[in-house]
Amino acid sequence: NPINVLLICGGGSSEHDVSLRTADFIQQELGKSAEFQLTRVTMDADGRFIDADGQLRELRSDKLLYNAGGSAQPVDYVIPAIHGYPGETGDLQSQLEILGLPYYGCGPEASKNCFNKVTTKLWLTALGIDNTPYKFLCAETAEEFAKAQDALSQWGSVFVKASNQGSSVGCYQVSTPEALNEALKDAFKLSPYVLVEKCLNVRELEVAAYEYHGELVVTPPGEVRAPSDTFYSYDEKYAEDSRAETFVEAEGLSEGQLDWIREASRRAFVGLQLKDLSRIDFFLTDEGEIYLNEVNTFPGMTSISMFPKMLKNQGHDFSEYLGTLIHNAVKLT
Ligand code: ATP
Ligand code: MG
Ligand code: MG
Ligand code: MG
Repeated sequence: NPINVLLICGGGSSEHDVSLRTADFIQQELGKSAEFQLTRVTMDADGRFIDADGQLRELRSDKLLYNAGGSAQPVDYVIPAIHGYPGETGDLQSQLEILGLPYYGCGPEASKNCFNKVTTKLWLTALGIDNTPYKFLCAETAEEFAKAQDALSQWGSVFVKASNQGSSVGCYQVSTPEALNEALKDAFKLSPYVLVEKCLNVRELEVAAYEYHGELVVTPPGEVRAPSDTFYSYDEKYAEDSRAETFVEAEGLSEGQLDWIREASRRAFVGLQLKDLSRIDFFLTDEGEIYLNEVNTFPGMTSISMFPKMLKNQGHDFSEYLGTLIHNAVKLT
């Protein structure tokens, strides 16, 4: 019997369109095997599921996916291929837990802890993993803004980040008091918490950390290089004419640096109780310091994305990897 897989993409965040491209990749990979019967639905801004024919679908507590006519099909496994709300935030996963349906990726708690840039930092510090110096603003008030201005005078240049966004949405590099005020206001429109980080001159390194045949695999770091006049912004990540360069294996790192990154990745994966997949991003400063920047629990899987490339470079076939996870999860239910 085929295994019925429900692929959910889209969602209500600024990363809706990126999620569709991730879903294209997953659909193509799972399509290589006849043992999976795949149904794809796109979640619209109101949280409704729309199928490939534009029809409304509904996943109910009997683990059946209904159509408008009232007929239903079984669901054995779910792939919540959503970046940002409500997938990477863990909300959808909570619903799947309640339904008792197995799914790809991290649980609600781990997702939420990693998606929120403030809680990520608290966890990293608790786990003893170095992360970039920052200040935390919890309200759009004059007092909080003053805290940010202090940070700017101390650090010279800062990154303002809305706490609950991805794909560099709500990220601003600023170096004047006026620009800082504007960036804070914009960031607060997107999120209730805002981080102000010290702007560092860095190389950006990323590892794929994932479970393969029951073992945690941490790949050697790849590297992304934004053009020198900007940072790794939304456009540099996804635009057709992006000038960013990616390298599946970063060059020139010492054994000690590679060990440090591998060990920090393991500690983050185990400590934050991640599952199945993650892309963990690091900064290497000119002074040779390494910071863990963030943990992405559902990294992009577009044709130019690092996660699938790093798996491939590790000699792991994505369809085989995901297929094995699905088999194991379905066997357990
Ligand atoms: P993702 O798409 O990976 O989820 P994100 O939206 O969660 O990204 P970050 O990775 O925190 O955001 O930051 C986006 C980019 O901004 C980084 O890749 C880097 O280019 C730049 N950046 C972020 N913080 C700093 C910093 N402290 N110093 C220098 N550059 C930074
Ligand atoms: Mg992120
Ligand atoms: Mg992200
Ligand atoms: Mg990032």
